[in-house]
Amino acid sequence: MTDITDGAQAGAEPIIRIEAVDKWFGHFQVLTDINLQVRAGERIVVCGPSGSGKSTLIRCINRLETVQKGRIVVDGIDLTAGGRNVDSVRQEVGMVFQQFNLFPHLTILQNCMLAPMRSRRLSRQDAEAIAMKYLTRVRIPEQAQKYPSQLSGGQQQRVAIARALCMTPKIMLFDEPTSALDPEMVKEVLDTMIGLADDGMTMLCVTHEMGFARSVADRVIFMADGRIVEQAPPQQFFSHPQHEITRNFLGQIL
Ligand code: ADP
Ligand code: MG
Repeated sequence: MTDITDGAQAGAEPIIRIEAVDKWFGHFQVLTDINLQVRAGERIVVCGPSGSGKSTLIRCINRLETVQKGRIVVDGIDLTAGGRNVDSVRQEVGMVFQQFNLFPHLTILQNCMLAPMRSRRLSRQDAEAIAMKYLTRVRIPEQAQKYPSQLSGGQQQRVAIARALCMTPKIMLFDEPTSALDPEMVKEVLDTMIGLADDGMTMLCVTHEMGFARSVADRVIFMADGRIVEQAPPQQFFSHPQHEITRNFLGQIL
């Protein structure tokens, strides 16, 4: 390696570093000794039984949740140090939820313009330009003047992805983005995510779409009872799961 200033090079500081994280909800320990490093441009799929802590883990990465023990550093910002800039991490990390969470009283265009205007202080004109750019990218520019309720679930989820991209995040988190969709709409959302992956976006996706995991993921992480039980490249993960609990899980969903 000749250019050590290039953050995307192998060996560089990971863009996400999670060390020995424990988290409780009251007396209930939801995460136990989580260790995870993600390099810029990596695509991670997180899977595991319901209640295993997948959503909680990725919500910790954009500080929708805080942790009681351990360390989380995202793009050089130590979320666990309690500094004043911790909330700025949300500008670097986009999130897409199972329930699209669009604002129902705003048009598609307004949904996409809101955060860039408020958080990035873009002018209306610049925010509109960037919104149209990403609505075009997810192939629904013609829906810009409609309201969320006028769109199909698949279209709404693509808007949610475009809205997140309008903040030009360095990392995208997806929490079961296709679980609430009718089956015929799953593919259009997965195709949008595959496009993002092809463009080199750093992605953490909680999903049970194992076809997506096989074709896109660099690593599959399996969680159970608040722990990372195993992680491996997809081919190895699916053909040689190491633990009984992983084999049982795969047996149920494949
Ligand atoms: P998953 O996404 O893998 O289904 P979650 O991270 O949503 O799991 O939840 C893990 C566990 O933590 C579950 O038992 C859930 O009931 C519990 N939990 C999640 N959020 C909260 C909360 N805000 N307060 C208390 N318990 C919670
Ligand atoms: Mg969840």
